[in-house]
Amino acid sequence: MSEDFDVVVIGAGPAGYPAAIRAAQNKLTVACVDEWKNRDGNYAFGGTCLNAGCIPSKALLESSELYVRAKEEFAAHGVKLETIELDLAQMQKRRASIVKTMTGGISALFKANGVAGIQGHGRLLPGNQVLVTGSDGSERTLQAKHVILASGSAPIRLGAVPHDGKYIVDSWDALEFDAVPRRLGVIGAGVIGLELGSVWRRLGSEVTVLEALPDLLPMADQTIAKEAQRHFKRQGLDIKLGAKVVRAVVSGAAVDVTYTDAQGEHTLQVDRLVVAVGRRPFTENLLADGTGVVLDARGFIQVDEHCRTGAANVWAVGDVVRGPMLAHKGKEEGIMAADLIAGRYGEVNYKVVPSVIYTAPEIAWVGQTEEQVKASGRPYKIGVFPFAASGRARAMEAPQGMAKVVAAKDDDEVLGVHVIGPMAGELIAEAVLAMEYSASTEDIQRTIHAHPTLSEAIHEAALAADKRAIDAINR
Ligand code: FAD
Ligand code: AMP
Repeated sequence: MSEDFDVVVIGAGPAGYPAAIRAAQNKLTVACVDEWKNRDGNYAFGGTCLNAGCIPSKALLESSELYVRAKEEFAAHGVKLETIELDLAQMQKRRASIVKTMTGGISALFKANGVAGIQGHGRLLPGNQVLVTGSDGSERTLQAKHVILASGSAPIRLGAVPHDGKYIVDSWDALEFDAVPRRLGVIGAGVIGLELGSVWRRLGSEVTVLEALPDLLPMADQTIAKEAQRHFKRQGLDIKLGAKVVRAVVSGAAVDVTYTDAQGEHTLQVDRLVVAVGRRPFTENLLADGTGVVLDARGFIQVDEHCRTGAANVWAVGDVVRGPMLAHKGKEEGIMAADLIAGRYGEVNYKVVPSVIYTAPEIAWVGQTEEQVKASGRPYKIGVFPFAASGRARAMEAPQGMAKVVAAKDDDEVLGVHVIGPMAGELIAEAVLAMEYSASTEDIQRTIHAHPTLSEAIHEAALAADKRAIDAINR
């Protein structure tokens, strides 16, 4: 006997659970199936983001940043502390408790919205049936009018760097270390590698980040990337660019890492090695034969711009489909799919997906980099405002970095906004909204920004694009 639903969502990460909630808001009957289990052996909704990604990493970034600020900045404020001690067990307890509260929140939201949250493995069968297998092996079949696949992603592993969960670990393991490694190696200077490297550096590790590419953060505006590199160096993050890891071997209680660069082959010994070389779409045991769902050459589920797969009434959203692997991108796709299923309007504007790196200073951007605009051939202008000239940043003892606006010379349209500095991830929201409305720099110039706030940096950068900044010298 099958149970009937209008919509069955497979995956309750930040793409799947909003899809389920929106479908329920649209008065459809909904089930959301998820198989995530935490290290305590318990099921938890929320996927990678809540359990092993965005949320626990931000919890540790916040705690570790406070620790460094207490050590390095409080004296400048005139706040004297006799001793500052790290209590890693408490820090990790707080991280775990935030995760528990947030994942429990999803169960509560499911209940409030009438979504049937089902824990177990979901497999799509032909005819839009979903076979759910519980951890005890029990099976039930759900019959759906529509299925939304939101199975997410998993860390990429390197064959020559065998993961053992203790010495050679992935990003999830590295969020749950119970002691600060003396020497930490990180493979990959992407967003995850830089965030994790920052956490453990702040807590006392000697951190070496090995990155195969010759440039740091090639996807970011290069003015911002260069500024970031300077700060990371000053913080003692040893980032080796053009360094490709070819193998790693556990020897005793350490790991010998071999990498090659322009000078040849080198060996580095570390106590723990984090592999943070990117993520791959996760579709293991998700699709039975004959569903009509097609994977592309890189293993992503193929979809159109509205997240429809090739199979009738089967949709796919989040990390398992093309586009940036970001929680908020998946959320908007999930909401779009649930609205389109209900016959409502749905659209994702892929041109204005913000990116944030939660290092210190924080890095955030939206739209095109100066390099991309230059390559497009469109005449452009830029405006830059340094946080050194921001009263609020000074008051916060955080006058590092800058805001940069890239705009079209012809019609003044804002093409990209790039920020490195305090609360950059919050500041970028204004730029996202501005670009969503196709704003010009003049629109931002004429918008009143409260004083003294960090947001004035965006205002002044927009003014600087026309050499009309007030609080900084126009160049
Ligand atoms: P997931 O979150 O991976 O969720 C998929 C869910 O589906 C999982 O629970 C999985 O168990 C379940 N599932 C899979 N297959 C099945 C099946 N067959 N049956 C039942 N259940 C199944 N992004 C940001 O935007 N901001 C950040 O700050 C950020 N920080 C990150 C930090 C780290 C350390 C990591 C690893 C990632 C971070 N990300 C961040 C990326 C973010 O976590 C992902 O983009 C996001 O989780 C993708 O959401 P999703 O719903 O597509 O997939
Ligand atoms: P991201 O995909 O943004 O998470 O970043 C992963 C980073 O890991 C990329 O910048 C890759 O260039 C880098 N990377 C991948 N494989 C290796 C390797 N074997 N050695 C060093 N860096 C690598």
